[in-house]
Amino acid sequence: MISQDDPLCRQIDQPHGDWQPLYGGVLRRCGRCGLVATHQIPEFDYDGDYFVGGESGGYDFDSPFSRAYDEARFNAELGQLENEGLTASVLDIGCATGVFLHYAQQRGWEIAGVEVAKYARERVSEELGVPIAGSLAELPEGQTYELVTLHHVLEHIHGPLAFLRDEVAPRVGRRLLIEVPNFASLPAKVHGPRWKDLRPEQHVYHYTPDSLSRMVESAGLKVRKVASLSEPLWSLRTAADTLRLLPNLVGASREEETPFEPGSTVGVQDVSDFQPPRGLRKVAADLAGVAMWPIVRTLEYRCHAQRLVVEAEPG
Ligand SMILES: [Zn+2]
Repeated sequence: MISQDDPLCRQIDQPHGDWQPLYGGVLRRCGRCGLVATHQIPEFDYDGDYFVGGESGGYDFDSPFSRAYDEARFNAELGQLENEGLTASVLDIGCATGVFLHYAQQRGWEIAGVEVAKYARERVSEELGVPIAGSLAELPEGQTYELVTLHHVLEHIHGPLAFLRDEVAPRVGRRLLIEVPNFASLPAKVHGPRWKDLRPEQHVYHYTPDSLSRMVESAGLKVRKVASLSEPLWSLRTAADTLRLLPNLVGASREEETPFEPGSTVGVQDVSDFQPPRGLRKVAADLAGVAMWPIVRTLEYRCHAQRLVVEAEPG
């Protein structure tokens, strides 16, 4: 069972309650603050094979698809932050196999990382030549970082408010950036319990722009930007998938009574044979991206895109 006295309700002096079951009871929503939680969390072992990838069944950070995806999203993010005058030091919490830190280092940032999984931690230390801490408490006392990032980490944390308030906020020099799957996204609404980023076997909370912003503010930080972002890699298939979802914008309702069934996710592409597009395929993907641009920007603007990003400053 998850801790019930951590997140939002405690800030307004009442416990979570009036729970409404979602997806046959796999999730539930607090009737008081609106936060959505997984009802029962299996203990997930991030220190096992999770980061080893390939045959182990963990997330394959080294596949050609992951590499192209991460290169696109991380360089776009770093470029934007640099345009806003942030260039000095970055702490990536939950740095996994260090892909974000790799690009930050290439671009001249001074990097630091935290990672609970020993395999990933040791690999990043060796590849990037910097020590990676096993927890925030291991970082030098009082040390702050100009930029602190959490990429798809917070949804795995059991006590997210206390974590943000007591461990993360004191490390934020100028900017905190949090990215999580967007529970208010169009794919989440349309696919309901079959949404590919639901992952209730790992994800403790399922954030919306509203609940994540309120949690960040409750942690004593000042929200400066709430955005949703589309997937960074474009193909004709991505364009077709997006077009197929659009009619659901009108009258979209989550299949709240539909039970979750493990393995029944939709929208998961087989990327095992992914190659970065070249030649005609690249031209076609680029053209699809240009043609879809107004639609994608509208979805992002309305916070309907897949990735939710909240940026904050020290309070
Ligand atoms: Zn609540």
